[in-house]
Amino acid sequence: MDKNIKRIRENFPILKRQINESPLIYLDNAATTQIPVSVSKKIMDFDETYRANVHRGVHTLGMWATEYYESVREKVKNFIHAKSKKEIVFTSGCTDSLNLVAATYGEQNIQAGDEIVVSIMEHHSNLLPWQQLAIRKHAKLKFIELDSKQQLDLADAKNKITSKTKIVAVAQVSNALGCINPIKELAKLAHQNNAVIVVDGAQAVGHFDVDVQKLDADFYAFSGHKMFGPDGIGVLYGRKKLLEKMPPYRLGGEMIADVTREGAVWAPVPQKFEAGTPNIEGVIGLEGAIDFIECVGLNEIRQHEQYLIRYLLPRIQEITGIIVYGPKDASDRTSVISFNVHGIHPHDLATALDLEGIEVRAGHHCAQPLMKTLGVESTVRVSVAIYNSQEEMDKFLDILVQIKEFFQNGLR
Ligand code: PLP
Repeated sequence: MDKNIKRIRENFPILKRQINESPLIYLDNAATTQIPVSVSKKIMDFDETYRANVHRGVHTLGMWATEYYESVREKVKNFIHAKSKKEIVFTSGCTDSLNLVAATYGEQNIQAGDEIVVSIMEHHSNLLPWQQLAIRKHAKLKFIELDSKQQLDLADAKNKITSKTKIVAVAQVSNALGCINPIKELAKLAHQNNAVIVVDGAQAVGHFDVDVQKLDADFYAFSGHKMFGPDGIGVLYGRKKLLEKMPPYRLGGEMIADVTREGAVWAPVPQKFEAGTPNIEGVIGLEGAIDFIECVGLNEIRQHEQYLIRYLLPRIQEITGIIVYGPKDASDRTSVISFNVHGIHPHDLATALDLEGIEVRAGHHCAQPLMKTLGVESTVRVSVAIYNSQEEMDKFLDILVQIKEFFQNGLR
């Protein structure tokens, strides 16, 4: 095994586990990545050294905890190249971030007859908030379809985004197809029509450098647990001038400047959107995750994922009876390959792989409209990360062929 990968794997004790008496091969990274020891240790250190509520007490511990918490906001701001840390809202995850935008910006700005444009490959988290908003407001939801390469059809986007469009909501990377979407071009189309663009970055952050200013994104959402961080923490980036005009999402402690019997004045952004005690440990863990990514290097991560996908993609495609979905060129993808094997249900295939210690995802990947468009109910999805090795890819390919032959020919 490559020395660097071996060294990186040392940070992930779970990778030494056996599953069903075989060494674990974890290929479900698009669902959740594993956590390096440095992240768990950072959370433990916080609890043993700084634990107190934030933005409340005047006591020293509370002030330390607040300073620490706010320093992570600065770190996230730098990580995604936002202009100001006021544009960084901590949420419970990507889903929460997207719901926040729909429930505040969407409620405030969408009227009957307006149009919201999403792509057909959206995860339900970036579809349902817009679909339900459109239903509530008697607005129209339009879908950008796939082109012949099973990527986002930019020509169709040009037709669908019009002067009636108020919101364009698209994933930077599809969790089911693995393709990278042309966010800059979509942002340009949205802005030419005075619409905003909401980007679902769940499958992009941590895979390559994300620069919200270069993308010209108005809102950008992502989750900690898909980038080596803990569960239950996420980020919403929003342009300050938009966040300032939006009503609060949830009401309660910490999000007010003043409360009287009759009314309330909201705290400035981003506190206006962080009601109640936040997930402080999650925020600390997120710092650890960014440190880990920066220590390995985003270029190295992208290169290694590309190396594995370039290795895997042609080898999967050459197995007879296998259909791979999404772009055929690895450079148009991140770390995801979705496929089906003729005559084998994805759940049966995933279960058979699991019996050999190989963990993959099977299902509709929370993208049912996309599955319908592809003409399937579900697929098997393999998703790699920086700690996966070429040897693991070989083992996966070997077992895949064996399972396929077993299902097709039975035991001889
Ligand atoms: N968007 C995409 C593209 C995803 O892949 C996912 C999760 O799989 C989400 C949104 C939702 O993320 P979370 O469950 O962390 O809120």
